[in-house]
Amino acid sequence: MLYYSLKNYQNLVSFEDAVLTGLSPDGGLYMPKYIPKLEPQFFHKLPFFDMYAIAMFIIKPYIGKYIPEKFLDQIIHDTLNFSFPLKKIHDNIHVLELFHGPTLAFKDVGAQFIAGCLSFFSKKLEKNVTVLVATSGDTGGAVAKGFHKKQGIEVVILYPYNGISSLQKKQITTLGENILAVEIHGSFDDCQNLVKKAFLDKEINKKYILTSANSINVGRWLPQMFYYFLAYRQIIVKNLIEIIFSVPSGNFGNLFAGMIAEKMGLPIKFFIASTNVNDTVPRFLKSEKYHPLPVKKTISNAMDISNPSNFSRIWHLYKKNIFQLRKKLSSYKFTDEETLKSIEFIWKKYKYMLDPHGAIGYLGLKQYLQEINNTSDPAIFLETAHPIKFLDHMPSFLQKKIVIDQELEVFLKMKNITKKISLSNDFNIFKSWFLEKK
Ligand SMILES: *Cc1c(COP(=O)(O)O)cnc(C)c1O
Repeated sequence: MLYYSLKNYQNLVSFEDAVLTGLSPDGGLYMPKYIPKLEPQFFHKLPFFDMYAIAMFIIKPYIGKYIPEKFLDQIIHDTLNFSFPLKKIHDNIHVLELFHGPTLAFKDVGAQFIAGCLSFFSKKLEKNVTVLVATSGDTGGAVAKGFHKKQGIEVVILYPYNGISSLQKKQITTLGENILAVEIHGSFDDCQNLVKKAFLDKEINKKYILTSANSINVGRWLPQMFYYFLAYRQIIVKNLIEIIFSVPSGNFGNLFAGMIAEKMGLPIKFFIASTNVNDTVPRFLKSEKYHPLPVKKTISNAMDISNPSNFSRIWHLYKKNIFQLRKKLSSYKFTDEETLKSIEFIWKKYKYMLDPHGAIGYLGLKQYLQEINNTSDPAIFLETAHPIKFLDHMPSFLQKKIVIDQELEVFLKMKNITKKISLSNDFNIFKSWFLEKK
């Protein structure tokens, strides 16, 4: 498989180069050159395969010869090392729980997969690779855990000094070894700006093989296709049926992965992109005007993004045709108040605890099903994080009820590493530290 840049379709690179650079040098995102089609028989047989075999079958064409099957199989086993249960909430509405990974966020799958790929490439090149990421919370933890102790890889994570929760901070700062956490005196946008400038800086690029680990990187979103297949595997009984998916969306990487799965042949009837009040995409679907506004802070903070990078991939996939896109996608936004109300409602009525992101997924699904008056097709919303990650934002009567499992308890009791790097948001100061660090 080759990948082309969205800024210049003639710029083709291998999977290896797409993962090692993150973004095309012309600034465009990479897209797979074609989308392989799967035979209908594959879907009939899905319940009889284990999840590793399914994952291998789906992802192999996207990687080709760049990672030998033996290693790819190992990477898949390391990536899918937790479960993805599908549970019925009520009527035709189901939840796909994606938060059983090591950092309790769906981002664990993408982070562990890209860590495996980069570690393989670094060994092959006999060179160290440096991963530089900015985080507003969830990405940092998943990336830190996914890359921890991976040979040949060093990870530098920038986070805003007062912008992430204490649990998220522990997840980033307590691992040490090849994981360097840097607190930036500034906002998430400042962190992101430092990363962007570093990618363009000649001296930094001369010294390091630098790549990203957020969802602009194909190595992050490709494995997210697995969720949709694994959900389908749990829901089909006899006949092939079509599913409706609601995806709580921020940078739209997760939704894009689902759309690729659908183009491969997975029977998905419709998608709902559910957002918080950062609603660029819901507005776009109505007016066809793409007009990001300044980011608003919400209780579903992993989705506080107003210019989602992966939406350009979706728009390209639907050939920039609003009518085609509307046939497959609706998008709704919800306020914090609506989010909290639904968490409370679902708990009281069905004894199921949603986190703020999953609650938005549920609300989007409900609204769509009501609009089309559909109560029969199987419908699934993705639950992207464990409610404990957003403890401070949960309704207070629920905070005490959140069950802490053992592993998490260890995390909560962990002390922060005392040796912490703290920098201002000035690029020159960051750059001299970055070039000198040991
Ligand atoms: C990252 C994240 C999202 C948004 O996913 P995208 O792929 O960026 O749209 C939703 N929920 C949680 C908990 C997240 O961490």
